[in-house]
Amino acid sequence: MTLTDDKPAVQITSLNKWYGAFHVLKEVNLTIPSGSRVVICGPSGSGKSTLIRCLNGLEAYQQGTVTLGTTRLGDNARETAVARRQTGMVFQSFNLFPHLTVLSNCTLALRRVLRMPRKEAESLARHFLEKVRIPEQADKYPAQLSGGQQQRVAIARALCMNPRLMLFDEPTSALDPEMVKEVLDVMTGLAQEGMTMICVTHEMGFAREVADQVVFMDQGSIVEQASPMTFFSTPSHPRAQSFLNTLL
Ligand code: ADP
Ligand code: MG
Repeated sequence: MTLTDDKPAVQITSLNKWYGAFHVLKEVNLTIPSGSRVVICGPSGSGKSTLIRCLNGLEAYQQGTVTLGTTRLGDNARETAVARRQTGMVFQSFNLFPHLTVLSNCTLALRRVLRMPRKEAESLARHFLEKVRIPEQADKYPAQLSGGQQQRVAIARALCMNPRLMLFDEPTSALDPEMVKEVLDVMTGLAQEGMTMICVTHEMGFAREVADQVVFMDQGSIVEQASPMTFFSTPSHPRAQSFLNTLL
């Protein structure tokens, strides 16, 4: 089972994590309904990346629970693996395999993890490359592409696995300004199709347009959680207010 329409996509309860003596996530509680979009923002070092990495098993945590659909992570190895496979992740630094073509980057997991035959995998990959509007780059290597194109390949690669939840960790922060829009447009399209999305981003235009909830983190805690309208017009926490002022 795991990620299904009638359960919250993500339920985080009393999550606490330490790096050694450093308390990086403090009593985090968050529910993300299936089909909704959440934007997470907050100062650098507030724990945003750590939090979303806990959702797909890239980070261990010491206390609390993370439930993806019907599966509490760590309870059952097989179910946890399925939940992770249903969760796509896009990183700030693209993380494409440099020695593989764009097409092979997209087909790798299909072939290795899902054991899909080459032809089928390639046709699926081409479908998603078309969706992110770079079908013509299929035979190039990542280094031959612009940052915006590489990030769109990373999104296509994630979509190939048919995720029910997409995690984005500052997907446009490493891009030149003129390439930010092409990546945000692809993300907006995904949101309009109903993909459940958690996006760490400081693109507040995107947050306003796409998010159902904005979550503001500071020093390892969620200090504000609101609709974009409320968050942008009347943020209640002083640190959220000053954070918004720095973006203006
Ligand atoms: P953000 O994404 O909000 O900038 P991070 O989740 O990357 O924040 O980091 C939160 C805090 O945890 C920072 O102070 C960072 O230095 C620290 N941190 C991150 N990763 C590690 C690690 N592997 N070991 C120790 N400290 C870490
Ligand atoms: Mg980060």
